[in-house]
Amino acid sequence: ATPVVPPTIKPINKGVVHRICAGQVILDLSSAVKELVENSLDAGATSIEIALKEYGEECFQVIDNGCGISPNNFKVLALKHHTSKLAEFPDLQSLTTFGFRGEALSSLCALGDLTVETRTKNESVATHLTFDHSGLLSAERKTARQIGTTVTVKKLFCNLPVRSKEFHRNIRKEYGKLISLLNAYALIAKGVRFVCTNTTGKNMKSVTIARSTGYLSKSGYGSGRNLGDRQFFFVNGRPVDMPKVGKLVNELYKSANSRQYPIAIMNFVIPTVACDVNVTPDKRKVFFSDEGSILHSLRGALENIYSPSHVSYSVNKVE
Ligand code: ADP
Ligand code: MG
Repeated sequence: ATPVVPPTIKPINKGVVHRICAGQVILDLSSAVKELVENSLDAGATSIEIALKEYGEECFQVIDNGCGISPNNFKVLALKHHTSKLAEFPDLQSLTTFGFRGEALSSLCALGDLTVETRTKNESVATHLTFDHSGLLSAERKTARQIGTTVTVKKLFCNLPVRSKEFHRNIRKEYGKLISLLNAYALIAKGVRFVCTNTTGKNMKSVTIARSTGYLSKSGYGSGRNLGDRQFFFVNGRPVDMPKVGKLVNELYKSANSRQYPIAIMNFVIPTVACDVNVTPDKRKVFFSDEGSILHSLRGALENIYSPSHVSYSVNKVE
């Protein structure tokens, strides 16, 4: 609608400007990781590890063995247009580095929670640095680390709601895009070792029965067709075969998901007097004085996770 009163032009809040501009530098997970990998290559790293949690949505880290960052740079490290790679316009013609605009770390600060751990060859210990959303250094402490740098970004796009939703919706696609990007860098960066890991835990449910603990896959998530190929049972930390436990886990999981088998990791903490591991030479077979009660309490815990009455439905309200 046409405003009745001619509007007044005002400057946008500085923080908002920073956030908007940052969103133009860092578009998605792969552009974020790309900036960090390029920084590691610029720092002369020969080993670059990319560690994601929940496909990068919760957190991603780039860990390198490059030259590290000198303490006199800590305060300005994540400030916009602060760089060690370019100072004057003519420098642009003789650039040999990937970066030169000093925008990556500052943008990542605006879009998520940024921490850096770094150590140069001149330091005997590393420093852990925390930055706020405007790129200012907000905390500093000593820590142990080899020479090099680790940059950690948590909750990327947490303050750009639309981008954050988009990130969540395309999480597998984003991951695929990142892997092919890393492949490209790995092919061209001679003598640099690349490792990428992704840790996920959202598909597992933790189980506690008295002092026994473990993880079981949720009903929507399983391990294909091979019975028991991803089931690990322990008694007091010792890997053992527990066929009856395996059978029970599979049976109850089946009531919720008949197409797959559950992933299961359980450590049963049992008084040593109540079990005997000395049954076979490989000590994988165990005798329990009261196996019945172990199975009984396990059944209770499993029913809690897998029984249909505990499956939650989302109902779309019709208005
Ligand atoms: P640019 O790469 O364009 O200089 P960045 O925001 O990506 O801007 O990084 C800012 C500065 O931080 C870099 O110029 C560099 O001096 C330092 N830096 C960033 N990452 C690393 C790293 N992994 N190892 C060593 N120095 C780094
Ligand atoms: Mg850079």
